[in-house]
Amino acid sequence: MTDAAPAPKPGILDIAPYVGGKSSIVGIAEPMKLSSNENALGAGQKAREAYEAALKNIHIYPDGRATKLRTAVAEHHGLEPERLIFGNGSDEVFALLNQTYLQPGDNIVTGQYGFLAYRISAKACEAQVKLAPEPGYKAEVDALLAEVDERTKIVYVSNPSNPTGSYNTGEEIRRLHEALPKHILLVIDEAYAEFVAEADWETAFPLAKEASNVVVTRTFSKIHGLGGLRIGFGYAPVAVAEAVDRIRLPFNVSVPGLDAATAAIGDEAHQKASRDLVQTWRPRLTQAIRGFGFEVLPSAGNFVLVLFKDEKRNAAAASEYLNSKGIIVRPVGGYGIHDGLRITVGTEDQNRAVIDALSEFAAS
Ligand SMILES: *Cc1c(COP(=O)(O)O)cnc(C)c1O
Repeated sequence: MTDAAPAPKPGILDIAPYVGGKSSIVGIAEPMKLSSNENALGAGQKAREAYEAALKNIHIYPDGRATKLRTAVAEHHGLEPERLIFGNGSDEVFALLNQTYLQPGDNIVTGQYGFLAYRISAKACEAQVKLAPEPGYKAEVDALLAEVDERTKIVYVSNPSNPTGSYNTGEEIRRLHEALPKHILLVIDEAYAEFVAEADWETAFPLAKEASNVVVTRTFSKIHGLGGLRIGFGYAPVAVAEAVDRIRLPFNVSVPGLDAATAAIGDEAHQKASRDLVQTWRPRLTQAIRGFGFEVLPSAGNFVLVLFKDEKRNAAAASEYLNSKGIIVRPVGGYGIHDGLRITVGTEDQNRAVIDALSEFAAS
């Protein structure tokens, strides 16, 4: 026996482990979990019924082409079905794109606060991650372009962005695309699209429809409340969708997931209720928390990012105080925002509890 042990390939152990939103507090039976941008209303009735009905089919392998969901999504958004890529969450779509296009030494470009999921799988491909500065907590077209070099294969923009809540206008996205060499893939992650209220935001579906190098991703985890089932999709040029399909594991989305997502797409009432809740409470939360003297970034998503600039009333102290009231929020130090807490817009009761707790914290 030698003491040799299997060694992960280069770079793997340099990846910081992803730390998800906390989900429990010692001593509190049912905490309010506002840490992962989940849908405060849960899944809709139609999705739940479809999930239950799927029970009779769970011994059957899923349809690897996701035919029913593919048809439903294509009809709902007016897209060509053959251009859709379904993944085990949109996280898997990012990982598949990275695996398909990145060689060791290549790089991806994203904003300083770009979503961590893009970066983890890029590093697993032995690629570099180049981060463009976001001085205003918002991705800047010129800063992104300045990071692009001859080894850049993919540029990722979340629009709206998590964890900052900022967004890029349709005009900005078109300018970015226009300036980007056409051999570079531009991925626009629209996980929070349905919550946007701003008139100058636009979905990039029309841009992707015409372009040879644009992928738009969406998820069932947020507006549809199906985060636990792991389903997302990308709308890609046919050549990209076909390339990705060669490495996609054949049964990457489950039977209950496919059925629930197909039902969710048709549940307009639940989508509307989810959107209305966020659009009603996002400004109320923002205003109330600003009133306590904390900075709240404008958000286009189903969450707000609060910055605690005070040395004593800092983010860690606020998080601890909220925990003591049974409320779990998300520290975002992993993004380098050490003074920030991301708070998901909850139900009315949850939002009131957050407001009360932060009011007390401010006065403490
Ligand atoms: C929540 C979220 C997603 C969705 O990820 P899934 O894997 O589909 O659950 C994608 N992008 C961003 C920026 C998100 O915050």
